Amino acid sequence: MPYFDHNATAPLAPVARESWLRAQDEAWQNPSSPTRAAARVKIRLDAAREQLAALLDSQPARLVFTSGATEGANAVFAHWARALPPAARVAISPTEHPCVLEAARVRLGEARIVWLEVDRAGVVAPTALEKLLAGPAAPAAVAVMAANNETGVLQPWSTLAACCRRAGAEFFCDATQWLGKLPASGLGGADWVVASAHKFGGPKGGGFMQIPARADGFHVQLGGAQEHGHRGGTENLPGVAAMLAALTEAETQKVLFETERLRWRDNFERAITVTLPNTAVIAAGAERLWNTIALRLPHGENHRWVARLDARSCQVSTGSACATAKAGPSHVLAAMGLAPDEAKRVVRVSAGWETTEADWAALAAAFVAAAPEVRPADNVVRP
Ligand code: PLP
Repeated sequence: MPYFDHNATAPLAPVARESWLRAQDEAWQNPSSPTRAAARVKIRLDAAREQLAALLDSQPARLVFTSGATEGANAVFAHWARALPPAARVAISPTEHPCVLEAARVRLGEARIVWLEVDRAGVVAPTALEKLLAGPAAPAAVAVMAANNETGVLQPWSTLAACCRRAGAEFFCDATQWLGKLPASGLGGADWVVASAHKFGGPKGGGFMQIPARADGFHVQLGGAQEHGHRGGTENLPGVAAMLAALTEAETQKVLFETERLRWRDNFERAITVTLPNTAVIAAGAERLWNTIALRLPHGENHRWVARLDARSCQVSTGSACATAKAGPSHVLAAMGLAPDEAKRVVRVSAGWETTEADWAALAAAFVAAAPEVRPADNVVRP
């Protein structure tokens, strides 16, 4: 069953499963217990932290294991609400994931948010950020994701991080969709990073965040001295070991195939736009992940397409998993200037490393077969 919804969640990588089972069998004790067996669990946890730091060009003391990106993003904004001066503002890209947007709105309040300008592809231009940082209302912190979950569009996060460093502003990068698909190196250059293991073949309910070298008083949750005092609660070594196994495999054996996967993506895009006239790839000309396509279809609402494709055993999505529960067009596409009636016709296709060229061909054929089944009347967008 061709699975094209990896940006929602990816299947567990076999190396992650093996690693989880091994850690659960061999190192299940509580690392805070005063026994030698527990000390060995702590050593494995520290080794995983060092391994992750090496992948990110970071330092182990800056890494906090969490339950995922949503928890991390909430913790960043809760910290900024506590630690930044009351009048300080935070600049945020309007194409961020809801876990960033809602945490910002609730923790900081709308009045303290500066919305960054984005172009038609949803990209934040470093020159625009530089100008903002040099201006009279310069923000104290900036949040821009690495890769967009709905469109796959890549942000120039490394350059944006450098702009912030020069201006003395903190930079937060949600790298949830980047990690495991593109190299992690350099992310250590951002002050704050969040990620979720299940997006790159690790288990659900695990993730990590990177914090600045000096983040006095920062905590995700209180109630224990675990994670260098940044996150109270018993550590999840099996989850951490499995996450590291998946990420290390992606880094050492998978990201090398990006060029081939870009070719498969591009071939699919060419085929579908020829066989289904009036179909368009959103942000076609922008740098995008090799796995993600936001496809604007010629007619019919996206959820109808998703259902018809599902009936043909092809799993795609209407956008971010969290957003699908909500009515209304995507905030990402709206920020990119798409009209609501166009945005309602956008389906997200997101492949994985195990996706084959034949899967892409099967998906193209399924779209063509489903087209007459999606009623053109659905093209009418009801308010
Ligand atoms: N950030 C991005 C870019 C995402 O795509 C997602 C999930 O779709 C998240 C954050 C939240 O991840 P999680 O639900 O694992 O906390």
